[in-house]
Formats: sequence, C-alpha cells, structure tokens
Amino acid sequence: MVLNSRRLFGTNGIRGIVNKELTPELTVKIGCAIGSFFQRGKLIVGHDARTSSPMLAKAVIAGLNATGCDVLFAGMAPTPALQYAVKNHKVDGGVVITASHNPPEYNGIKVVWNDGIEISREQEIKIEEIFFQEVAHYAEWKNIGEEQTLTGIIDDYIGAIKRHVDVSRIAKKRYHVVVDAANSVAALAVPKLLRGLGCKVTTINANIDGTFPARPPEPRPENLIELARTVRAINADVGVAFDGDADRSIFVDETGEIHWGDKTFALVEKFFLMKNPGEKIVSPISSSTLVKDVADAYGGEVVWTKVGSVTVSHTMKRLNAKLGGEENGGIFYGPHLAVRDGGMATALILDIMAYTNKSLSSLLGELPKYFIEKGKVECPNELKEKVLEKIIEQTKGLNTSTVDGVKIWFEDKSSILMRPSGTEPLYRLYAEAKTKEKAEALIHEFSLKLKRIIDSVRG
Ligand code: MG
Repeated sequence: MVLNSRRLFGTNGIRGIVNKELTPELTVKIGCAIGSFFQRGKLIVGHDARTSSPMLAKAVIAGLNATGCDVLFAGMAPTPALQYAVKNHKVDGGVVITASHNPPEYNGIKVVWNDGIEISREQEIKIEEIFFQEVAHYAEWKNIGEEQTLTGIIDDYIGAIKRHVDVSRIAKKRYHVVVDAANSVAALAVPKLLRGLGCKVTTINANIDGTFPARPPEPRPENLIELARTVRAINADVGVAFDGDADRSIFVDETGEIHWGDKTFALVEKFFLMKNPGEKIVSPISSSTLVKDVADAYGGEVVWTKVGSVTVSHTMKRLNAKLGGEENGGIFYGPHLAVRDGGMATALILDIMAYTNKSLSSLLGELPKYFIEKGKVECPNELKEKVLEKIIEQTKGLNTSTVDGVKIWFEDKSSILMRPSGTEPLYRLYAEAKTKEKAEALIHEFSLKLKRIIDSVRG
C-alpha cells in the first residue's frame, strides 16, 4: 500500500501494518470506494484469524453499507472458502480481510469478483480512482445497506471439494494425516474435510491465535520442522501445513521430508494430464522445469506467467485452463474454482495416493529430480528496467522467456531466472539444475554477470 503514489493494491490485494498504515478510518474509506465500485450490490465479507481482522471487517462493512451495498457477513473462514461462497451464493462480489502469510502485525483487504476470483488490475484501478479522487457514492439515509449473518459456508466448501475426489476410495485407506494449521483458519475447515474423507487426523497449531505463537504463517520448509517431526514420530502417512489464510499448502511425506510446492503441484499435474491430455497448465515462470517435464511427458502445454497468484487465476480464466500451480504451495483447481486452495490441494493429493496405492514419498520420487539454489544482487529501483533491457539484449539467441524478468533454459535442463524484486531494491536469482553444484555455479556465474551489467548501466 503506497498512498503517496496513489496506489492501494499490491500484487495480492491491499496490505499494511495495522493501525500504522491500515487504520480503521482508512478501511472505512476503502470500504466506501469498494462499495461505490460495486454500485449497491450484495457482497460477502469474511476474515482470517488475525487480532485486527474483526475490527477491520466492521470498518469495511460500514463503508460498504454507507454506499448502499448489502453485506452477508460470514465471519472467520479460510480465504478459499469465502471465495467459493461468493460463487456459490451468486452474489456480486466479496471482501476478505486477510494478510495471508505476512507477520501478525499486518493485515490486508482482498476484493473478489462474482466468480470468486480476485478482481483484475483494471478493476482495482477503478476502486483506486474512487478512493483517491474522493468520489464515493454515499447512499441516502433510506438506502443504506444492510448486514446479515451468513452461516454454513465452511460446510458448503467442504462439500464442494469432496465432489471432486473419490471419497470412498480415499476413506478405505484410512490415511493418518497431520495438519499444521498455523494457528489460523485452516483449523476451521481442513480437519473436518479430512475426517469427511475417512482420515485419522492429528492436528498441531490448530488453536486459533492471531499472534501466530507457534510458527510464522508462511509455510516455508524452515518453519515446518515440528510438522515433519510429528509425521515421523506417529508414523503418519502424510503431513500438510497451511499459510495464514489456508490458500497455500505444503506437504511432508511419510518419511518426514518436506517438499516444495512445485513438486506436489507436478504430481497433481501428472495425474490431471493422464485423465485430461492436451490441457493447458498455468504456472509462474519461477516454478521448476519439472512442471514442463511433466507436461511434455503427459501431453500438456505449460503457459508461463508473471509471478503472482492473481495472474495465474486470470490467465486460467482467459484461457479456460483447468489447472494452475505455484512453487510456494498454491494449487488452483479450475473444476472447483480457479483460485489457490489448500483444502482442495490436500484432497487431490490424497486422491492420487488412494488411486495409485502408493506412498507420497514414492509418488514424488518418480518425478524428475532438480536442485534449486537462490541468490540476490542489489540493484537500485531506478536502474531495474535498464538492467532488464541489457540482460534481454545479451541473452538474445538463447532459449529464454521474458514474461517476468529473464529466464534462460540450457541444453542440460538447467535454468536461471533473474527477476527484479517488486518490493526491494534488488534482483532475485533462481537457479535449477540436475546437480547441486551446477545450480550453485549458475548462481555464482549470473550474479557476477548481473553485477557487471548494473555497473555498466550506472555508468
Ligand atoms: Mg495465503
């Protein structure tokens, strides 16, 4: 959220530090802008488990009502459950108060269109114009919107997910699943979903606590040691960890190994393509080449996008693609809803395990193996574009993509992505190769090249 540059929305809705950047007053005003954009429509509002979420939900509802919008208030729920509710109840849109995986002092506002998918950048700009030009349409006293309570959305969401998997086949396996709910909204839906799939469920960090006392709400491998240990200690079949609003899920196999999201996504992709050959698979350019390997082997076509979940959703919508996935654990299953959804992803993984009668470690072990290394090089914001032009110029003739930064694929299946950070004055590097040494060497080689280019541009 950068108010002085007249921008509210970032890559994933509006985000800010509570009561410093994102105050209740500002949130009422944002609610008025959103309400004016929806022109007296009916919206579902809900929120995550953060300490500030009920307060900010009330503020946004006040703004929506003031501009004549009716609100169905669904309370605390996973973001994908709220998104599904918008589609399921055929309302005009929705507002979700959440800062997803950010630290507890943050919160955010996500605006959803009537199909359950986040609004487009063009629509965000319309809301920003209303906000910054202060042209909200306040309703007359007799047309102020009403608020009603909406119950049952989590059960509806669970029911919808179950329709996309073979419930009886999964139930026969009696899988033991450990759920790490990050002390947040996953706890409200996922254990119940899994019990409905006949699983035995052990939960950790499943008490709702907006201070996130157990681990940061970002499901990065270093935050999931307790989950991995628990899976091993009780001989569970699988472990799954969620982020703060339960749209991302990261899996741990029965040996306690934690797997990055593009690997589990590639597994889902493989079985999806076996049943639906020829389909388009949407994934950000930062994902592993594994996604392409699987598509090549099983008759799919990968569409690489810019990094960001909203871009993946909108690309799926535009191309009528049914499957998308990110390396951070976002899986988008279009037949349910083209948004990332941790509960849906968990059901899909169990469905594959039951269908193949194989453990998660052996299923993932069958996929091509890659080693990933990351790096960063400092670069002043004002030079980023010039630097990018230079990189593109110098990599002409190679097998590249310039959809977001520059990615180069080499003959030996290794690759390097150099991408300017959207938030910090630096370039991020992602290398991937068949050996760890090669991935490290690529980071080293291209960090030097990038530094040289930055120096030359600096002049
Ligand atoms: Mg999230």
